[in-house]
Amino acid sequence: MNKIEKSQHTHNTYDDIDLQVYGREEHNISRKQISDNALKVLYRLNGAGFDAFLVGGGVRDLLLDGHPKDFDIATNATPEEIKKLFRNCRLIGRRFRLAHIMFGRDIIEVATFRGHHQDTEKNISQQSKEGMLLRDNVYGTIDEDAERRDFSINAMYYNIADYSIHDYAGGIEDLNDKLIRLIGDPETRYREDPVRMLRAIRFAAKLDFDIEEDTADPIEQLAPLLRDIPSARLFEESLKLLQSGQGLETYHLMREYNLFQQLFPTVAQQFTEDYSSPTEEMLDLVLDSTDLRIEEGKRINPAFMFAAILWYPMTECAKQLMETRQLSEYDAIMEASNIILDEQVKSIAIPRRHTATIREIWQLQQRLSRRTGKRAYRLMELNKFRAGYDFLEMRGEVEKGETEELAKWWNTFQNAGRNMRQAMVSDLGSSGSKSGYRRRRNPRSKKAKSSQ
Ligand code: ATP
Ligand code: MG
Repeated sequence: MNKIEKSQHTHNTYDDIDLQVYGREEHNISRKQISDNALKVLYRLNGAGFDAFLVGGGVRDLLLDGHPKDFDIATNATPEEIKKLFRNCRLIGRRFRLAHIMFGRDIIEVATFRGHHQDTEKNISQQSKEGMLLRDNVYGTIDEDAERRDFSINAMYYNIADYSIHDYAGGIEDLNDKLIRLIGDPETRYREDPVRMLRAIRFAAKLDFDIEEDTADPIEQLAPLLRDIPSARLFEESLKLLQSGQGLETYHLMREYNLFQQLFPTVAQQFTEDYSSPTEEMLDLVLDSTDLRIEEGKRINPAFMFAAILWYPMTECAKQLMETRQLSEYDAIMEASNIILDEQVKSIAIPRRHTATIREIWQLQQRLSRRTGKRAYRLMELNKFRAGYDFLEMRGEVEKGETEELAKWWNTFQNAGRNMRQAMVSDLGSSGSKSGYRRRRNPRSKKAKSSQ
């Protein structure tokens, strides 16, 4: 980014907050980079006599010459005052009331400055025993608002009144040094909201920044606090972490900081020192291919990713059920799917429509080996065939052997003409009775794998 120097320095009563103002000549944000809708909202608020700032990720990404996902606005107008100014305004949120200004599908989020929860006599802010913020509806000044934000690089405000940037916590310096730094005392801030640990990792991976030492230190130990976070929030967060284009790197960082283990306990049980288990190979494969698909602008399906992450925990569980309860393979997989998914949704609330797809993909794995007669043709017509086949191909890469052969067979079959397909199916016919329904699928031998 362009050179930016201090121009003004004011003092403030809060230790961590040390405002520096950069005039319009001292930074490289231009109004051309800001969406018309965001500008409209900023100008209308300001025109009505309120302070209006672009804030958070929008400012950060503009300074980094990136393209902000969205433009968030902060103001001293209350939600009710905002609503009076905009016909297309909806007030939302319970934990903190926000205004959404709707421009068709584009939504500009406007938040009233938040205040300090401790400062209020009104009991509208609540904290749990562990120091976690439960409710949080206290309005405040811009200084207080800045102090409540998570990282220094997320606490910069672009003022529409004079196009200056108000940098409250040394964010510009940290941007230049490529550092993720929490505002305030890290342990306290993590206890208030443990999701900040995940956010630190997410921004480090996304921006290719380091996590500043004091910010990084407490994470490993405090990671178990994530168990107290509502699973619905962790579902949203897990998609941002793993499906935003740097999933592979984010997973490795999360794991290093003991965070992945909290979100996926059954997966973590299979982790090895040298990252060599099938689960770990699968994680690398699925996250790498997800990152690639995002880069290529292709659609991604969360169900496919979760199916891959949880596959080996599920098959391991099924194997145990077959041994201990003499279940058939089919029944064991059904039962193990229930067990693993029930366990997983305790930490990450994967919605039902996705768990249904995960089950379908898993069940298809059994069915894909039964190809005789008309079966192969019917399988190809199934809705989830493509996902099931792609999944089989990834398993082939991990398991090699029979699974890899089966994936190759399907690859050839799909691309073959009518005659060739018939020949492929009748070829199976001779040995087909042997490789029938009850055959032990997937003798995923550790030997075969470790010889890779
Ligand atoms: P992204 O590009 O992922 O949207 P962002 O910084 O805009 O990044 P948001 O989740 O959209 O992230 O949040 C907007 C802003 O709200 C942040 O920049 C930060 O200032 C503040 N914020 C969000 N979550 C928290 C949190 N858990 N604790 C403190 N401040 C937060
Ligand atoms: Mg944002």
